[in-house]
Amino acid sequence: MEKWAELDKQFLMPTYQTLKLPIAIHKGEGNYLYDTDGKAYLDLFTGLAVNVVGHSHPKIVQTLKEQGERFLHISNVYLNPPAITLAKRLSEATTGGKVFFTNSGAEATEAAIKLIHKYRMKQAPERDGIVVLKRGFHGRTLGALKLTRQPHVYQDFPLPDYKIIEIEPENIEELKAAMKEKPLAVLMEPVLGSAGVYPLSKEYLQEVQEICKQENVLLCMDEIQTGMGRTGTLFAYEQASIQPDIILFAKGVGGGLPLGGVIAKPEFSNLFGPGDHGTTFAPSPLSSALGNTVLDLLVKDGLLEKSRGVSEYLWSELNRLKADYDVINELRGKGFMVGIVLNGEPETARNLRLKMLEEGILIDLTQKTIIRLLPPLTLEKEDVDRFITALKKYL
Ligand SMILES: *Cc1c(COP(=O)(O)O)cnc(C)c1O
Repeated sequence: MEKWAELDKQFLMPTYQTLKLPIAIHKGEGNYLYDTDGKAYLDLFTGLAVNVVGHSHPKIVQTLKEQGERFLHISNVYLNPPAITLAKRLSEATTGGKVFFTNSGAEATEAAIKLIHKYRMKQAPERDGIVVLKRGFHGRTLGALKLTRQPHVYQDFPLPDYKIIEIEPENIEELKAAMKEKPLAVLMEPVLGSAGVYPLSKEYLQEVQEICKQENVLLCMDEIQTGMGRTGTLFAYEQASIQPDIILFAKGVGGGLPLGGVIAKPEFSNLFGPGDHGTTFAPSPLSSALGNTVLDLLVKDGLLEKSRGVSEYLWSELNRLKADYDVINELRGKGFMVGIVLNGEPETARNLRLKMLEEGILIDLTQKTIIRLLPPLTLEKEDVDRFITALKKYL
């Protein structure tokens, strides 16, 4: 363990230094990770909302082997059956339109920015600008960074000069005022994740859609963190009964391997023409094959349905804790995207994360005082009990 900590310091740029935990992972199985000393950890973080079906799921491993033995990479100049199948399934589950695949969330945002500007070129030359929410997060590459409205994330970097308009979440008046500037698109996370797990209300999302429709403004939903069943439906927007024009996805889609992208509605599916965008690696046939297996598990095998029951149980247990412990200021989130806002100094939350680590439970911290849980959809009731019992010890 010490050896790995030393080498990490010596050879990796220290971008994650304040968050890094002193455990070296040896293997994963189901809802647990095991370190090089053999200690087990219940994983309520899932590598930041990625391992939606837990670790080394037998069906994921089987797909890895099967696709791995066939081919890993072929480029975009041949037909790629695993990716075409995944695109069809994602399309049919959402807009019915076409998909562009990327390798990551930030690249999905970049693709969305380019699509939005193609919309300007082709259909809305008099419009300009993208409306985004204060404190929203959409990635860290330079184009995406401009849309990420967290100053500590973007302030040291030169940003591209395309126009953005920043508004307060849940404030319809600010959105209406933004419309006077004739923007091209509105982009938001249905649950603001890294801002501190703020779900947007159904009423707000419906009004946003209504306004976007009236104004011919593209409604873009960043479902990179909320997607793949995390909030109880395949994508979170479904719960607000809205239909975005463009959906951004990544994180959980590749079953643990990098994969992201955008899905457009049919009427916006041909904004990109030949040569307008591209990337060498995406869609990885291997990531795509895993994506198909993730969808099999969530939808066909009923994991999504089952996870709803366990997440309800988790929320009811957390609500009981909140009633009993003053240190819990607020509970926020949806499904398996949970923010436990603690009273007190950032120290309190930091210590709690370390205490839970000692107990063999991995949790996340965001915005200094918020414990964030992003468990796998395979979480069991007894895992919830284990977490609640451990939490009680330290609250
Ligand atoms: C993680 C995340 C991104 C960026 O994805 P990366 O794969 O880290 O580039 C963008 N938007 C949201 C909402 C995210 O949670």
